[in-house]
Amino acid sequence: MPLDKEDIRNLSFEEMKEVFKRWEEAEYRAEQIFKWLYQKNVRGFKQMTDFPKKLILELEKRFFISPLACLKTLAAKDGTKKFLWQLEDGHSIETVFIPEKLRRTLCLSTQVGCKFACPFCASGSKGFIRQLGVAEIVGQILEAQRLTASKMTNIVMMGIGEPLDNYENLVKGIRIINQPEGLSIGARKITISTCGLVPGILKLKKLGLQVELSVSLHATSDDLRDKLVPINRRYNLEKLLSACREYYEFTDRVITFEYALMEGVNDSDSDAQALGDMAQGLKAKVNLIPCNPNMSLCYRGSAERKVKDFQRIVRSRGATATIRSTRGSDIQAACGQLAFDREVAEEKGCQPRP
Ligand code: SAH
Repeated sequence: MPLDKEDIRNLSFEEMKEVFKRWEEAEYRAEQIFKWLYQKNVRGFKQMTDFPKKLILELEKRFFISPLACLKTLAAKDGTKKFLWQLEDGHSIETVFIPEKLRRTLCLSTQVGCKFACPFCASGSKGFIRQLGVAEIVGQILEAQRLTASKMTNIVMMGIGEPLDNYENLVKGIRIINQPEGLSIGARKITISTCGLVPGILKLKKLGLQVELSVSLHATSDDLRDKLVPINRRYNLEKLLSACREYYEFTDRVITFEYALMEGVNDSDSDAQALGDMAQGLKAKVNLIPCNPNMSLCYRGSAERKVKDFQRIVRSRGATATIRSTRGSDIQAACGQLAFDREVAEEKGCQPRP
């Protein structure tokens, strides 16, 4: 794409208004173009039939619309679908569509690769390549909606990457997703998941977005968390929990602690007690995830029975605890199974673990 042009979906609603103002166009054009882009999902300016020709030419001179190219779609037995997209520069990312009776959830990637290298998660196993742009973040929704012929009701930032490490683009993307003239998905239906980037949590706190925040906890002692979520060496549990408390007290929004259960690693009764106490103290919810197997790793998920016992103990400490149902594991679409450049991994002879 020409360097002097940019994908128009990188622009916020306010920036769009600014552009039209500069061009001495009416302000309602911003509303119109947002509807074309995000509600009618058009791929070219010529399709914006209520725009005068002159304006279409002007738009074409300055901007382009570059839809993500779908390289592969995999469909799981349970209806979950995974899309592999190719980006402009040839890199690839994945997005997962999870249909339920009353909800249609899309799990978005926010980066190509990940810097944070949690040893049980495939997404970080090949390092970090680059940030996703706003157009690439919201573009995942537009193309998934087109390919599934459905309107998403919930968005979770739980695909490849660390959302709070791509803070500016994430927030801009969320505003477009939330914007009534944009994708019009309520803030409370959008979840940001973080491995615990304390500065990001504190910045987010002040924004006043009503989004859901999930924190990937996975351990209740610094010793273990240093290994499972290495960013803990920079922001230890004390710092993380204090940021969570500030977030909760400032926003009045309940935080969710995600906890992937790994056999013999973090699934003892005393782990459950400590987690229950930690969550109860912060009025946080606990979401237990039986650890999913993936290409790179040597952790085994706890058995179903163990997960249920663990939940019971967490609850006995006064905390709310749910078990996340695993979706799409037959197509490697479950938590921790998303990777970029899957083909490369397969060529190298990496196999999904049983
Ligand atoms: N970087 C963010 C976003 C990724 S979200 C974060 O860490 O929160 C993906 C969620 O799935 C996180 O809670 C992550 O810790 C969890 N996860 C990663 N690998 C997993 C695995 N193998 N099994 C179960 N959950 C896993």
